[in-house]
Amino acid sequence: MDCIFCDIIEGKSEAEIIYEDERVISFLDIRPVNYGHTLVITKNHYENFLSVPVKELNAVIKAARKIAEAISISLKTDGFNIVANNGTAAGQSVFHFHFHIIPRYNTDKFHFRPELKNYSNGSMKEFADKIRTAVKK
Ligand SMILES: [Zn+2]
Repeated sequence: MDCIFCDIIEGKSEAEIIYEDERVISFLDIRPVNYGHTLVITKNHYENFLSVPVKELNAVIKAARKIAEAISISLKTDGFNIVANNGTAAGQSVFHFHFHIIPRYNTDKFHFRPELKNYSNGSMKEFADKIRTAVKK
């Protein structure tokens, strides 16, 4: 299986490692939205958010918090985004689950520009019902 992130974990590809522990590794994205844009991943290969076991997800989130804090302080950001793209339709290009931590500044030109929709009469409840029924207790 070809996976650039697994290559980084195994030391076969170079990366600017920011943080590492038993379960998690974090390194700079080579194509940053803003400088300091960092990825946080599990050391085990999982395709997406839904395939990561909760224990490892907890470890990734804990590390993401640590790194977001370090980015905020060291790069004097005005904010940051934490994003995970899941599936090709969502823009996922490396199929090894990862969080992006993107430093943000009031003056940067990076914007999400969604065309926000409006629910038609009653359809909001229909969507909510569908999702509520599928939520695993
Ligand atoms: Zn991988």
